[in-house]
Amino acid sequence: MNDILSMDYEELTGFITGTLGEPKYRAAQISSWIAKGASFDEMTNISRSMRIKLSESATLEYPSVVQKLTSAIDGTVKYLMELSDGNCVECVLMEYEHGTTTCISTQVGCRMGCRFCASTIGGKVRDLTVSEMLGQVITAQKDSGKRIGGIVMMGIGEPLDNYDNSVKFIKIVSSEHSLGIGQRHISLSTSGLVDRIYDLAGEDLGITLSISLHAYNDEVRSSVMPVNKRWNIDSLLTACRDYFDKTGRRISFEYILISGKNDSADGARALAQILKKYFSDRPLHVNLIPVNEVAETGFKKSGRNAVDLFVKTLIDNGVNATVRRKLGEDISAACGQLRRNTLNKQ
Ligand code: SAH
Repeated sequence: MNDILSMDYEELTGFITGTLGEPKYRAAQISSWIAKGASFDEMTNISRSMRIKLSESATLEYPSVVQKLTSAIDGTVKYLMELSDGNCVECVLMEYEHGTTTCISTQVGCRMGCRFCASTIGGKVRDLTVSEMLGQVITAQKDSGKRIGGIVMMGIGEPLDNYDNSVKFIKIVSSEHSLGIGQRHISLSTSGLVDRIYDLAGEDLGITLSISLHAYNDEVRSSVMPVNKRWNIDSLLTACRDYFDKTGRRISFEYILISGKNDSADGARALAQILKKYFSDRPLHVNLIPVNEVAETGFKKSGRNAVDLFVKTLIDNGVNATVRRKLGEDISAACGQLRRNTLNKQ
């Protein structure tokens, strides 16, 4: 069976005209139905006989919402979505002044092993398909009735460990035939798979690359992120500089603040120093996030004073940094926590 949601427009057109022997304009009709989350049966401007033909030769499945939590504080919505094989992933809908953004998962589980993260605790189960990534956006848009204007690939999983599907997803979701979400409004977050960062720089995408840095030296980084033993900070920042030089897209660094681990003022100075060393006057931005406390990890978030001092020290040392507004704190909106809670109950 052909998974129609994983096809780009060219593949879909080839399928419609080749396999089904139908006229080309049908591809445009089907694409616009797909963007609305319609089933074959609901495609009312397509003849019944063609709909039967479609359902006999192709699958069209969207993730279904099995749990939905809405934050009483800021309206953030967290979905637990079920895939066709019964696995579940998380998808979050966030409201910003400039519009609605969705955070999607790229794998079921994760094999990166970051010590602070709930998504990686049970390891990786499998990669998501292109259609499962696209399906999260479509399902969230349909369920909420909101027009989604931005995507962050920051849910469960390591997008660069599912490279081909992640890149194809970005190309499809940003295409005018699909949801048409501009690549400037798409961020891909990675724990730092350096070889793939070089590959990504060659894809000619206009997305924002976010790097989960979380430490100011290799010792600290390796102690919380095993990936750092394979690709250290030197190789990572060199790849990030190359990414900027090739794409002209400003790099965004994520830095979670963990009490007593990586949040000292000296640490902030060391961080400013390495960023300057590799980036000199190239633009960059550091997003500071007090760590979300996950029961299994034992890490505590930094206190208010430590956070304030850390951000001030970075700024005083010439680094563009902000503390990220936390959304959905009351609904365990952090990566992997909802799926984890559900697995624990089973
Ligand atoms: N694997 C990718 C994308 C998914 S994680 C990556 O590592 O970037 C998305 C972001 O959430 C990453 O910056 C990750 O480090 C962060 N994160 C994971 N666990 C967290 C926690 N307990 N508190 C705050 N941020 C967390």
